[in-house]
Amino acid sequence: TQTVLEIAELQLHFFTDKGVVKAVDGVSLEVGRGEVVGLVGESGCGKSVTSLAIMGLIPQPPGKVVAGSIQFEGVDLTKISQKELRKIRGDQVAMIFQEPMTSLNPLFTIGNQLIEVVRIHRKVNKSEARKQALEMLRQVGISREGILDDYPHQLSGGMRQRVMIAMAMMLNPKLLIADEPTTALDVTIQAQILDLMKNLNKEFGTSILFITHDLGVVAEMCDRIVVMYAGQIVEQTDRFRLFRNPKHPYTQGLMNSIPKLEDKRERLYSIPGQVPNPHQMPSGCRFAPRCEYVMDICRVSSPELLAVEEGHLSRCFLHQEVKEVATTST
Ligand code: SF4
Ligand code: MG
Repeated sequence: TQTVLEIAELQLHFFTDKGVVKAVDGVSLEVGRGEVVGLVGESGCGKSVTSLAIMGLIPQPPGKVVAGSIQFEGVDLTKISQKELRKIRGDQVAMIFQEPMTSLNPLFTIGNQLIEVVRIHRKVNKSEARKQALEMLRQVGISREGILDDYPHQLSGGMRQRVMIAMAMMLNPKLLIADEPTTALDVTIQAQILDLMKNLNKEFGTSILFITHDLGVVAEMCDRIVVMYAGQIVEQTDRFRLFRNPKHPYTQGLMNSIPKLEDKRERLYSIPGQVPNPHQMPSGCRFAPRCEYVMDICRVSSPELLAVEEGHLSRCFLHQEVKEVATTST
């Protein structure tokens, strides 16, 4: 498959009064044409910052891409002007968020907003734009014509998210970035929205970067899964390998946190401890303070992201040859 998005060794730092925060610290990931990639981790692990960086939506300052690149269709998004970025953002890369109300304007009808999107970017008249809007709404499962005259607050959360997706898909983007798009919805609606996105991916061939804290959500949806922790990728492979054979203790923890239908426990398992304070990153492995397998070497040396089998990367000493240099005392 061809690559639509290729992030290489991205370093995105925030320069704050309290010091430098390496929010994205050497992240490399690819999204192929028509591929659905899951970017998973707890909140504060850098996944949303990564996605906002792709969209060019990180305020600079205090943020700054200090190294690496974000290639979209061969163009390095870190090197182009805001104007060029806006063009790509409107047209070829679309984004949906957890709360559609932040992207839908409460003052305008659904019809106005969808028609507007088309007319800004395509040379079509109003009635053609309206036709396209209705067609896209039908694609996302809304066939009631009166919908165009509704205001966002008149719709349920699930309907709003469908409208949001329709709006994102109106221009047939090559890449859709979805940041926790179903997190605010109840499980039934959540499943419907995931189904919908899967269908749109098949129907239009749109590549999707799906960002979530919930590994369960991406279990069915994604071809490949990238797990992030404390600004770095800790594991990356296809979903079959990941679910059959999760290697990194953090991934295993996320997996144990997935609610199971037959689960009678009142409280879900969650990984003990918290993501590290970005101003005080632990030395050595960043997961060490929370890891049940922690070894001496983990506290002094940082594991690299290495292949544990073909097509499967993990950043953990448990399955790596411990290097001599790491055991040499200083
Ligand atoms: Fe745990 Fe050590 Fe692996 Fe880090 S390197 S995840 S602390 S075993
Ligand atoms: Mg987030």
